[in-house]
Amino acid sequence: MNLTKYILLALVAGVIVGIVATFIPEAYFSPVNEWVLVPLGKIFINLIKMLVVPIVFCSITMGVFQLGDPRKVGKMGGRTLLFFLCTTAIAICVAMVLALLIQPGHVPGLEPLAAAPSFEETPSMMDNLLGIIPDNPVASMAQGNMLQIIFFAVLFGIGISLLGNKSQTVKNFITETNDVLMKIINIVMYTAPFGAFALITSAIGSNGAETLRQMGMYVLVVLLALGVHFFFTYGTTLRVWGKMSLIDFVKKFYPAMVVGFSTSSSNATLPISMEVAQEKLKVPAPISSFVQSLGSTINMDGTAIMQGVATVFVAQVYGIDLTMGQIIMVIITAVLASIGTAGVPAVGLVMLVMVFNQVGLPVEGIGLIIGIDRILDMVRTSVNITGDAICAVIMTRVEERSDAKLAKKSQ
Ligand code: ASP
Repeated sequence: MNLTKYILLALVAGVIVGIVATFIPEAYFSPVNEWVLVPLGKIFINLIKMLVVPIVFCSITMGVFQLGDPRKVGKMGGRTLLFFLCTTAIAICVAMVLALLIQPGHVPGLEPLAAAPSFEETPSMMDNLLGIIPDNPVASMAQGNMLQIIFFAVLFGIGISLLGNKSQTVKNFITETNDVLMKIINIVMYTAPFGAFALITSAIGSNGAETLRQMGMYVLVVLLALGVHFFFTYGTTLRVWGKMSLIDFVKKFYPAMVVGFSTSSSNATLPISMEVAQEKLKVPAPISSFVQSLGSTINMDGTAIMQGVATVFVAQVYGIDLTMGQIIMVIITAVLASIGTAGVPAVGLVMLVMVFNQVGLPVEGIGLIIGIDRILDMVRTSVNITGDAICAVIMTRVEERSDAKLAKKSQ
């Protein structure tokens, strides 16, 4: 919580200094920007970028082998995965549609930022899809080709689970490497207050206070999309398959949501959300532990929403029109990115780099959203854990129905 306080302080300080900077003559601000703020911001962004490839590889491999032997996952495993994938895809679509309609990155009177990459260099969607199988996975990692890395990681994870106990050493290695990477994220986050301050001051100081309006619009669209997904997608699925109203659900589940909000970590909230689901929502323990623990590692609807809005927002800020192919690519990569996002604070932002890389957006654009991400992380984590619990309730009803059917048949 202390670090959060510092990041928020840095955000406020960055806004104030940035606004003051707009009144200072260009000749004074420019050198400070060029020699202090831009390098500080760059250091922070590079520290994040550095972690993307190893984290994507380890977390996706882990996500796959944690599922267990594909031959044994069974019907409930399949249904749970399907539910997770569909709700996450819906979440991104909601986010992108709202961002495309509201256009948080287009503020009248604000020129698009430079540094737009040339799209001739960005491969078409077909090339992307065909090129998903790497001819050399080490080269894919060196080049940061995310889809190829994910493809290899999924196969690697499947191989590990098929080998069972024989692959225990590799399993431990990947799990421990992942823990080490999470520790490094913790360390990197200590530089976040400086990075956030420098990036925000630089953005406002060089582009004017209107940038603030842009950032405010971004926050509003993310919150709106989270709200729509929560009330509409969750409300409907819960009513139709879970035979429960969202209000009844929230009345029982809110203690876990509050913990998710205050810790910004699905993993840290897991024990509480499982307890609440089992005690108050009456989800049987085996279903709750399978669905919710899997969900806390791979099901991140709130994170996907942030990534969807952020991608459209940054494209708009840089005056880039996303093609249909790129939009589909964002949906695919953001589903995968949210699977790869670990349930700890701020990882969603690291994974956003992967989505940007995939569609050729300037990673520097993250500077515009980094300061406020801490607050949004709290809200999206609550949504993340709610999605897992709703899935657990639905799986309970589905099992009850199939048990009832079996009982009827045997009579
Ligand atoms: N903090 C989120 C979670 O734990 C992940 C993220 O979006 O950064 O669910």
